[in-house]
Amino acid sequence: MTLKTKQEYLDSLSAMNKRIFLFGEEVSDYVNHPMIRPSINAVAMTYELSHNPQYQGLVTTKSSLTSEEINRFTHLFQDTDDLVKKIKMQRLLGQLTGCCFQRCVGMDSFNALDIVTHQMDMDLGTNYNHKFREFLSWVQHEDLVVDGAMTDPKGDRRLSPSEQADPDLYLRIVKRTNEGIFIRGAKIHQTGAINSHQILVMPTRSLKENEADYAVVCAIPADAEGITYILGRQSSDTRKLEEGDIDIGNSEYGGHEAVIIFEDVFVPWDRVFMCGEIEYSGKLVETFAGYHRVSYGGCKTGMGDVLIGAAQAVAKIQGTDQAPHIKDKLVEMIHLNETMYAGGIAASTEGVETESGTYLIDLVLANVCKLNVTRFPYEIARLAQDIAGGLLVTMPSEGDFNHPEVGPKLKKYLIGSARYPAEHRQRLLRLIENMTMGTGAVAYLAESMHGAGSPMAQRIMLRRLADLDHKENLAKRIAGIPLDEITKGEG
Ligand code: SF4
Ligand code: FE
Repeated sequence: MTLKTKQEYLDSLSAMNKRIFLFGEEVSDYVNHPMIRPSINAVAMTYELSHNPQYQGLVTTKSSLTSEEINRFTHLFQDTDDLVKKIKMQRLLGQLTGCCFQRCVGMDSFNALDIVTHQMDMDLGTNYNHKFREFLSWVQHEDLVVDGAMTDPKGDRRLSPSEQADPDLYLRIVKRTNEGIFIRGAKIHQTGAINSHQILVMPTRSLKENEADYAVVCAIPADAEGITYILGRQSSDTRKLEEGDIDIGNSEYGGHEAVIIFEDVFVPWDRVFMCGEIEYSGKLVETFAGYHRVSYGGCKTGMGDVLIGAAQAVAKIQGTDQAPHIKDKLVEMIHLNETMYAGGIAASTEGVETESGTYLIDLVLANVCKLNVTRFPYEIARLAQDIAGGLLVTMPSEGDFNHPEVGPKLKKYLIGSARYPAEHRQRLLRLIENMTMGTGAVAYLAESMHGAGSPMAQRIMLRRLADLDHKENLAKRIAGIPLDEITKGEG
């Protein structure tokens, strides 16, 4: 097997025995739980599309490791075309689900790890890249979802891992044996964790000399002994437990994040891809973040397409679509959305080959892309709310619209243009509500801000990578100022 069907994916999840908590209770049959299932449906779309002939070559590709036909979500990028197709695939999935489809963190982690383990082997004579590629070949063959688990709780941000009052605030190795290692700690904000087959643990920052136990990369089954998941809340999440499908806003798809707790979890040596090499920790974080910052140029623009479409459709229903200011607001939304996409595409076409053969995106453009993503979805959401009007937040419930007495009255008074039934307006306003302040806003807004690093992280990288001295020299040359004179003047 190399391409699981949607059903095979669902069955493979059901066969796993994960310990999951939600609302203070342990969840059994999580695959059919109404709060979790939409997020599973979103991941399942990555399987569904891989069997659609229309998306062959986009969602599927040939493995560089085994030559098998695989899902692009498990691929090592072999050229800039691969990098561009990744963005296009993510935009497509954002368009079809209107939410986070969760499988990209694993994909971006694979590529970052391939580069960094190869570098480690070159420098240190270790065997990590070979072990990692064996693991990845298996992941490709089995078509697995892998949760890239990077973010530690971090405790007091002024203190490094070894200085924290509680040493477990960053995940660490607590024991080494002939068979493997034992790890303890937690990873937070874990996108799609519950929908994964494997957890790929990685460090979250650069480390100091006495912090070798924190420099650990390893893969474990998502239902390994000692792992517990606690699902994160999302705004308006309990609407998923209500009757009906309108008030949820997007009843079919959603995302999720979870806290994962690791209590002395065993990892065999063949699944350990970094063990104490502190000097490679920062490099791994930076490389992963670069890839993932570009990913947002795909998925968030796909979601943006849905929101722009919803805004235009609701404007038609309300009879405002021909007003010049509404048309201009839609144009502004398009401009912002395509600017994010442009960053993703540009960082991809400017990608370069690394020593492992895997292509890396352009890091400056990756950070520009993500910095735009920290702002533009908020502006697009603001414009969508502007176009939607106040009914977005004052509209009665689905139950009231269905009530035998008040339902017909609501439909009479809350209709827009007579050409459309009131329910169309209801559905579109709930979708905009979902994406701009409900469960969908988790991925579209707050995650755009903080996912793959908060805005300041991108600004720091831009300052570091932009080569300001080079720019200064360009100016000096044209201005006719001797370079050494300027340098003296600065002193
Ligand atoms: Fe993929 Fe976007 Fe979700 Fe990240 S936020 S996992 S890039 S869909
Ligand atoms: Fe994310």
